[in-house]
Amino acid sequence: MVRPRFGTFSGGIDLADEKDGTIDSPVAPAGRLKRIRVPLAPVDTNAAEPTVRIGQHVSRGELIAEALSASQVNIFAPLAGRVSGFCTVMLPAQPTGWRESPAVELTDLDHPGNIEPLTENFDSLAADDHSLRLRIAEGSLVTFNQSTVSLSEWIASAKKADVDTLIANVMENTPFVTADHRLLAERGLEVVRGLAILARAIGAARVILAVDHRRIDDYRSAVAPARLYGINHIALAHKYPIGAEAILTKVLTRRRVRPGADSLQVGVAVTDAATCHATYRWVACGELPTARVVTVAGPKVNKPVNLLVPFGAGVEDILESAEAGSESRFVYGSAMTGRHLVSGAVVSSATNALLAMEPTRRQSPTQCIRCGWCGDNCPARINVAALNDDFELGRTAAAQRKNAQACIECGICSYVCPARLPLMQRVRLLKQAIKREKINV
Ligand code: SF4
Ligand code: SF4
Repeated sequence: MVRPRFGTFSGGIDLADEKDGTIDSPVAPAGRLKRIRVPLAPVDTNAAEPTVRIGQHVSRGELIAEALSASQVNIFAPLAGRVSGFCTVMLPAQPTGWRESPAVELTDLDHPGNIEPLTENFDSLAADDHSLRLRIAEGSLVTFNQSTVSLSEWIASAKKADVDTLIANVMENTPFVTADHRLLAERGLEVVRGLAILARAIGAARVILAVDHRRIDDYRSAVAPARLYGINHIALAHKYPIGAEAILTKVLTRRRVRPGADSLQVGVAVTDAATCHATYRWVACGELPTARVVTVAGPKVNKPVNLLVPFGAGVEDILESAEAGSESRFVYGSAMTGRHLVSGAVVSSATNALLAMEPTRRQSPTQCIRCGWCGDNCPARINVAALNDDFELGRTAAAQRKNAQACIECGICSYVCPARLPLMQRVRLLKQAIKREKINV
């Protein structure tokens, strides 16, 4: 038998792991919360319609807002409590900003629980494809990544693109973050079963569980059953940003994603451990997705931890419970590409990490010294220094000729630049200008 060989990629850097505080600690329940504000527009700028009134008591999992269109999802109460009002919260918006979402405020809350064992009540292997997709739609599942969409819509897009390969990306190779790692280490069988359900739903013949080679011993509970479901587990070297969708697709399938496109375009769908886990818990056991595992860590956190946090919990409350220093620079998501926290932000399915970092040095950027580090380490093989010139001179067409659209926004160029130039942000702005000009042609 010829065993397939998997490669690496040009560029990239070996980032410090910095995961010691949480990598071996089991997921814990969030502490008691005074209030949660449950977003009504988790996937769409249009909000679901509330079905509750102020003063009403709701139980955990009760419908509190109803979807009005196919792109929206129903909203369920993450905890039992009392409806105390309607308000607005902040959710991450692509590519790096924030957007407002109407929300239902719940107080007098039950204590948040942990991930409990469940009994299966739906045979996903015996169900036909239509029943399976119907079951997924009934759960109002969403994808658990930064570009949150309804899971049913994601499956429909994958089917339309004739996807033949599904990859569960558990590389998680940015510093501090261990939320997906802990899920796979503790609930490996559930993640694998969720991945198998998603593979059936989109009709993918080839299914890959991609993990960091340094952690493979932690994933014993996932690896053996994966084979039974026809899932190939592959342990890869950890060079950053191997977990980026386009890079992982290229390394595992040798298919090259066109600049600006996503991996569906080459027949590959990429998911994550949290989405697989939520899929299994709903489809097989009937547990609605109302919480997610969040890593709370960083150099300014006294008690780094992975918490199971109900949707709608205030980010400030969660950081406070982990004793994050108030003078810190708070980051939502990855230390390399995450966004700075804003007031009113709440935990949603997109929140994999909350980090408290050292305050930013107040030194201004200086002139490019042509060291070439940005281009040498860029995984998209772009001449980033030349793009920086284009940015400073406002040359959008020249940036397009230099393939700015191939940037995967990994943040390496900004990280290595000795002149402290915000290169990733500048390339992102160039990409947006190119897109705008194309639209206006
Ligand atoms: S952010 Fe873009 S330009 Fe910068 S290193 Fe990453 S891929 Fe290259
Ligand atoms: S890393 Fe910074 S200083 Fe060096 S070439 Fe790139 S932009 Fe210029």
